Amino acid sequence: MLDHLSPSQMSMWGRCQVQWYFRYVEGLKIPPSVSMAQGSAMHEGARFKLAARVEGAEEPSDSDTEEYIVNEFEEAGRKGLDLKEGDDLGKAKDELTACGKVLLEESLPDITTPTASEKRYDLNLEDRDVGLVAITDVEEEGRVRDFKLTSKTPDPLSELQPVVYTYCRWQETGEVPDFTYEVVKKLKTPKLERVNHRCTEADINFFFAQFDAAVFQMKHAIEAGNFVPNPCGWWCSESWCGYWNHCRGKGV
Ligand code: SF4
Repeated sequence: MLDHLSPSQMSMWGRCQVQWYFRYVEGLKIPPSVSMAQGSAMHEGARFKLAARVEGAEEPSDSDTEEYIVNEFEEAGRKGLDLKEGDDLGKAKDELTACGKVLLEESLPDITTPTASEKRYDLNLEDRDVGLVAITDVEEEGRVRDFKLTSKTPDPLSELQPVVYTYCRWQETGEVPDFTYEVVKKLKTPKLERVNHRCTEADINFFFAQFDAAVFQMKHAIEAGNFVPNPCGWWCSESWCGYWNHCRGKGV
């Protein structure tokens, strides 16, 4: 059952083992929240444009890409979203449109020579029986970029993507790339923020200490059928945890 881990799996395990159990042992997928659907639509828009740029093919125009982003969001709405009180899909669509413009006008024009878009790594790790899986948003010579749609500035040291993407790329090319978050800030007037980071060997070693500890704990938890809930963080609330009704909110 446990043959590979991805950064998002590990982050979920760190937040709450019961969330991880529902998602990866029970296979219970929950519909995305409105903000997750906005983020996915923006990522899809970036991929739509950059995949053509990587291939040297004719790129979709900005207006086609804007439309593509909105269509992706509407499609997610048709499939079903995890709607919370106060969610307004019309407002969310307007917000996404404004953020999409920032992506198209300020971020993507600077990524002139991408070498890969949505590249999947599936690494077997020496001396380990669990592999590492990751998908990078966009790669260039000497750099990996990750798109984010958020109101906050992400901290590269408190997230796993920067170190995992750095490691994957290093394994493939033998060179340690720089890492950049392309953050489209979800503000009243959206703007682009770039957060640059360069992972060190110590960051990579620390990541693998976390990886090994997570694998050890996961194997024992699966064997024992015992997963530890973590009700102590912001994620353990009706509005943030998609498994609330299966867990803390059950029978309420
Ligand atoms: S409700 Fe809280 S304890 Fe239960 S799965 Fe969600 S985060 Fe974990």
